[in-house]
Amino acid sequence: MKYDIIIGLEIHAELNTKSKMFCSCNNLSDKLEPNTAICPVCMGHPGTMPVANFEAIKWTILCGLALDCKINKYSKFDRKNYFYPDLPKGYQISQYDLPLCYKGKLEIDNNDIDITRIHLEEDTGKLIHTDDGSIIDFNRAGTPLMEMVTEPVIKSAQEAKKFCQRYQQILRYLNISSANMEKGEMRCEANISLQEKSSWQYLKDGVITAKKGKTLNPKVELKNLNSFKAIEKGIEYEIQEQSKRLDDGEKLEAETKGWDEKKQITVRQRRKESSADYRYFPEPDIPPLKISNELLNEIKQSLVELPQAKIKRFKKQYGFTEEMSEAVIYDKAVANWLEQVISELRAWIDASNDSWERQNKKLAKSAHNLLTTGLFQYLKKDKKTIGDIKITAENFAELITLHYQGKINSTTLYDILKEMYKNGGDPTDIMKEKGLEQIDNEEKLKDIILEIIKKHPKEAEDYKNGKEALLKFFIGQTMAKTKGKANPAKIQEILKEELNK
Ligand SMILES: [Zn+2]
Repeated sequence: MKYDIIIGLEIHAELNTKSKMFCSCNNLSDKLEPNTAICPVCMGHPGTMPVANFEAIKWTILCGLALDCKINKYSKFDRKNYFYPDLPKGYQISQYDLPLCYKGKLEIDNNDIDITRIHLEEDTGKLIHTDDGSIIDFNRAGTPLMEMVTEPVIKSAQEAKKFCQRYQQILRYLNISSANMEKGEMRCEANISLQEKSSWQYLKDGVITAKKGKTLNPKVELKNLNSFKAIEKGIEYEIQEQSKRLDDGEKLEAETKGWDEKKQITVRQRRKESSADYRYFPEPDIPPLKISNELLNEIKQSLVELPQAKIKRFKKQYGFTEEMSEAVIYDKAVANWLEQVISELRAWIDASNDSWERQNKKLAKSAHNLLTTGLFQYLKKDKKTIGDIKITAENFAELITLHYQGKINSTTLYDILKEMYKNGGDPTDIMKEKGLEQIDNEEKLKDIILEIIKKHPKEAEDYKNGKEALLKFFIGQTMAKTKGKANPAKIQEILKEELNK
């Protein structure tokens, strides 16, 4: 590729506050009849007065703190004027020059992505297009909408996707948005441009400028990216498209495009408006916001350990790899549950004569393994979450100790897990009730093996005469006889001893 790829993201997220942004209407109206969670304020009737939702302001600041942003001590709301059928007031209350948060960063693959700003605004209604024309549901009008904008410093479609995934995790960790992309609770737009190498540079604050004698190529704003897959595919497509057109010597123009999921292409929507078209001016009905240090300190109390920090800690504390950590931190509840299991294992080791320092990484990995290769499959199949399961962290840990002590083999481990997933219960009880305990008693195992050898004299003779492959036959016979409950290493040991006699 002879061009530098320059991508900036704008991500809107609906906040989960109880009421809407500027009125007391129900904000969690997902399941309500259309146009029932509305009032004169969110319908923009003349003479009504908006009152800003304090919770939404606090949550936006919380998100800013989580992304290392600076917080404006003095902030305000502004009117963004445009006409669209889903916008009842004819303008949107947003924030223009004094957003709540600015200058932050988020680390992706050991690389800081700079964040320009996070501001608060209100969502529009929902237009639904039918064969008979368009209908509209205003329940969503006035939902608190938090917009985060990155600097144009992202260099690939993969990096953009990772950024969005991590941001979604953070919103969920902070418990401020469900951020479900398929439901439109989190919506991403990408600004993409390609510049000839060494023809441009960053100025202060992420502004891009052409070097002397060069010109910049315009950017395309890509919308309709409503899944992580669409983000990656859409951006990748647009990069290829622009590169091809530049190669052909075409002069590009700034435009807004949408990702067509069905055709897997980007399609032109309209020419891009500049911000002057919106005629921003300060919202006269809402007083400016003063953010005190006391309030900031209060909000800081709600900060939690974030995904990036959890990954680092899991790697260090439990010896997990990056991939292993990612596999369990995507959901805070899953990560917490795994840590509960590990803490139960620690209590068990502490009560024995062993030391946790010696065993911790091994046991933590066993817990991770049984969770991701066992439990996750059931959860995925039944579309359930960790909060829905009947297995307690204590019982899950006990199951791991049964295997660790050699009381059950790997096959039985997963059999008991399946049973526990269905009906809950104590793994030791299940093991005893169903007679799944591994046959460890050597005398008992030897008796079984001697019987098998007696039943197959010809094979035993052949083995003795050098047909060593027959050992597998005898192992199979023994496994069948013991219904897989015997320790395979021990079977082999006894078999070799007895067959060579
Ligand atoms: Zn309302």
